Amino acid sequence: MTPDLGAPVSSVKGVGGARAAALARLGVRTLGDLLRCYPRDYEDRRDKRRIGDLSPGVRAVVRATVVSETGGGPRFSRRGRKGGPPLRLLVRDDTGILELVFFHAFYPATALKRGEEYIFYGEATQGARCLRMVHPDFSRADEADGLDLLPVYPLTAGLRQSDLRKWIRGLLALTDAMEESLPADTIAENKLCGIGYALRNIHCPADAVRLREAKYRLVFEELLVLQAGLLLLKNANGRAGLGIAFKGARDGADTARFTEGLPFKLTAAQRRTLGEIESDMESDRVMNRLVQGDVGSGKTVIAAAAMYKAVKSGRQAVIMAPTETLAKQHLEEFEKLFLPHGVRVGFLSGAVKGADRRLLLEKTASNEIDILIGTHALIQPDVVYGNLGLVVTDEQHRFGVRQRVGLSKKGRDPDILVMTATPIPRTLAFILYGDMDISVMDERPPGRRPVVTRAADAGGRKAAYRLVREELAVGHQAYVVAPLIEDSDERALRSATGLYAELSADFHGYAVALIHGRMRQAEKDAVMGAFYAGETALLVSTVLIEVGVNVPNATVMLIENAERFGLAQLHQLRGRVGRGPAQSYCVLITENASAEAAERARVMVSTDDGFAIAEKDLALRGPGEFFGLRQHGIPQLRIANLAKHVKVLKAVKAEAERLLADDPPLTAKKNAALRAAIDALFTSAADIGI
Ligand code: ADP
Ligand code: MG
Repeated sequence: MTPDLGAPVSSVKGVGGARAAALARLGVRTLGDLLRCYPRDYEDRRDKRRIGDLSPGVRAVVRATVVSETGGGPRFSRRGRKGGPPLRLLVRDDTGILELVFFHAFYPATALKRGEEYIFYGEATQGARCLRMVHPDFSRADEADGLDLLPVYPLTAGLRQSDLRKWIRGLLALTDAMEESLPADTIAENKLCGIGYALRNIHCPADAVRLREAKYRLVFEELLVLQAGLLLLKNANGRAGLGIAFKGARDGADTARFTEGLPFKLTAAQRRTLGEIESDMESDRVMNRLVQGDVGSGKTVIAAAAMYKAVKSGRQAVIMAPTETLAKQHLEEFEKLFLPHGVRVGFLSGAVKGADRRLLLEKTASNEIDILIGTHALIQPDVVYGNLGLVVTDEQHRFGVRQRVGLSKKGRDPDILVMTATPIPRTLAFILYGDMDISVMDERPPGRRPVVTRAADAGGRKAAYRLVREELAVGHQAYVVAPLIEDSDERALRSATGLYAELSADFHGYAVALIHGRMRQAEKDAVMGAFYAGETALLVSTVLIEVGVNVPNATVMLIENAERFGLAQLHQLRGRVGRGPAQSYCVLITENASAEAAERARVMVSTDDGFAIAEKDLALRGPGEFFGLRQHGIPQLRIANLAKHVKVLKAVKAEAERLLADDPPLTAKKNAALRAAIDALFTSAADIGI
């Protein structure tokens, strides 16, 4: 019999409305959730010492008896008022005396009794007369749990560590009879421990070995649910007969005519990628393909070629970009690319309103437009497509699974192509994009010279701006990027607005412009338009220009306070130059760089391979910060860490593939618990089509 893990947390003694609400903020609503609320860390209490063996800086457990109070004020009176004297106690064992200090401490004042023995845990520091511990953790010696590894839970306002420990320990008895959540063969083949054992030892590890077993099992399970869920999605979407079979060469819908008309030859990586896309499109499965291209690898023309094929097959195609600026840039490029082919191109963003918008929607519904370019506005409910066949999303890392799917629902199972300029470490791509096929474009068009990258400190700033001046003098353009929009008193960082004022004066005779995210769209468009047209020589910006901007005549990217940017951002920013035939430069100016920031600068100077940089970034920062997993549409992970658990991930991938090969819809009885976990993880499973 399975215990009722679905019961609300309020059925735990001591959990009332306020605490239940606090738990809900952690995503914990039921007893089962509480058991799956894993410690984020452990306090290592294995170091047990006698007072005589303590020294400053040591964190340890001591067993000692309260002997007296050293502070002023009435003994054990109510304390804790702000500004009141702290509670000071002396405790001793037979090797020495230790002073304990508690500020604003009502609870220790009443709980710690003279003559009684307690277990204290804390860091020893040097006091006036003897060693001291400030705010040690304590429990009565006869009630101490004896745990060497104490769980540390994630907290939120209104929850205490000690409460969570108590509540969760109280539930551990339920795990004895708990139903196994993984298929038996998965457990056996991967030598995993059972769920009850895992939960008991993740919360109350008897020793480090059992903790490791428990953690491995739970990490494995979490990643398996995710990976199997994504594969399930991929299989469901990829079923034969569901999708559109686009026309091929025989019907004149191949992309050759389009690519032959380009002013350049495709790179081998572009040809390979386009080949993969074409065969996907011609099959009657729904294409679901991710194109990972490093900056400057030429993704846009590949997207355009695929859209050409869709149009020549009698279908509409759309491309959705994350910002208005990028969408406009695509519009210009596509108008040029498609002009010789008689393809009708339209544009839709939030800025298109009223009669213009109405007319556009009419034409879209009646197939008088072949290709629509735009922003999120493309997936608003009232946008109806006559015959949508291909959906391209640009810069996927800004869209989640949900938006991706939102757009695909606009047609009857259109093909989906996702372009991303953020290289993703290969070790992670298969889980982040487990529901897609992946093409990699790891090659730049020939003749591009690598960007010369330099790191400089404040002393190198003059030389850096001299370089800018030299480049402008020969007719090139330059970017200067700062971390802030406006100067701020608290932080000694450069701001775009401040630099703009300075540089406008310094670069007298050149057109200098400013762009940042707080400007109105029309202003931004005007500024970008002038820079594209070469009317502006120097553009001062925030990271706004990070993605996609393509001005081949720009040859310098100067980044102020480069220590404030992550590797992925720096790589993207650098990718704005080196897009034309001239030699380009990137200068990273760092002040007071931490060791990590200095390491990032070294990486940037040493390589321009986005994939290598992505691996490095993952190692330095971990995946949460790097990717914004949620932006990828990946549910938040409770225990697995995609940067650390790469090896587990490999085993998980193999296991997920085995499970799905064996039971493609995962509906066999033995897989029921796993399937339920998948459905729960992808909460609105129905609307993402599992
Ligand atoms: P990204 O992959 O960064 O989006 P783009 O698609 O913006 O790169 O392409 C960058 C520039 O390179 C564009 O001006 C594009 O016209 C040009 N380009 C693309 N493919 C090639 C090629 N095979 N040879 C030469 N230039 C190319
Ligand atoms: Mg692009």
